[in-house]
Amino acid sequence: MRAILDGLLTLMAPRRCPGCDEATRSSGVFCDSCTVLLELTSDPSAVFEYGGPVADAIQRFKYDGRSDLGAALGSLMATGAHPWADKVDAVVPVPLHWRRRRSRGYDQAALLAKPVARSLAVPVVLRGLRRVRNTPSQVDLPHRERQQNIAGAFAPWRLRGVRRVLLVDDVRTTGATLRAASEALRAGGVSEMHTFVLAARVLAQAA
Ligand SMILES: [Zn+2]
Repeated sequence: MRAILDGLLTLMAPRRCPGCDEATRSSGVFCDSCTVLLELTSDPSAVFEYGGPVADAIQRFKYDGRSDLGAALGSLMATGAHPWADKVDAVVPVPLHWRRRRSRGYDQAALLAKPVARSLAVPVVLRGLRRVRNTPSQVDLPHRERQQNIAGAFAPWRLRGVRRVLLVDDVRTTGATLRAASEALRAGGVSEMHTFVLAARVLAQAA
């Protein structure tokens, strides 16, 4: 009976793949066609190489108001978070500026950070950092300008005395954002920090 009911519910509301937005009954987060296209990294600080279905999913998640994808994409990050088990006291997401958070309605890194923190059995400190400047989007900037654009954009806020932090963001391109956020954490008394992103652009793609 229960199985029939579950089957009916699936029929009525099929889950959509975050990569292609097609209905799927795959047991994984992505549909079977997208799953074969996923490129895992050998780098423990990033789950996927940026591109293909992952890039499409991140696009939907960030720019199409699909905050619902945060839990699924965050759960994928959580499965890759084991290198930091017992090595961090808290997970801190890289924050958006409040103006951008207000226009988007949510902060994507915070949604990703929650399942990661849960898997590590540590708290997520949503207000550990504050974005003090609303920087222009990094997307179209060359490497050197990204550094200048983002430098000093963050300040430590309510870190609650945590010393070992896993800093979480959605995408790493040149690493400039994570470096700026790490500097703010250090200024706030964090002595040990690690970074973890859902997807990293490979260096050849990062201009
Ligand atoms: Zn798909």
